[in-house]
Amino acid sequence: MLTPLALARDVLFAGAARPLCHACLARALGVGYGEARELAFSLRLTGEVTLVPASCDACGRRRLVVRVHGDLPDVLTRIVRCLVHHRARGYCAECLAGEVHCLAAEAAHALDRLQRVPGLAQRVDRCAGCHRVLPVAFASTGDRG
Ligand SMILES: [Zn+2]
Ligand SMILES: [Zn+2]
Repeated sequence: MLTPLALARDVLFAGAARPLCHACLARALGVGYGEARELAFSLRLTGEVTLVPASCDACGRRRLVVRVHGDLPDVLTRIVRCLVHHRARGYCAECLAGEVHCLAAEAAHALDRLQRVPGLAQRVDRCAGCHRVLPVAFASTGDRG
């Protein structure tokens, strides 16, 4: 199931270099203008997009547009940041997906790759997010560098 936020990411990131105004984003998502604004705001909080005054790629009007960062951190990078931020607290793929705004399947895939990332580990433990006992990922060391 795709949340509106995941859908917004898909639309924006599929267009990568295409900046869209809130109205055109709303049209692309099939949601109201207000909801599109809220989604864009959420994505801005995670640092995935910026809001800049520019010409909208869809309607051509010059307004505040939502633009994806050129060097968008991939899901794995965002998960690593999230884990390091939470220090030693383990989170399952589902909770991480919620934290970094990606699909659960994407998070699970990232966790597979994460086993090769130094300083991060996985074990079966109680998830700090949902409190279920299942495989969780965590930052294994507090001292980095
Ligand atoms: Zn537009
Ligand atoms: Zn969890």
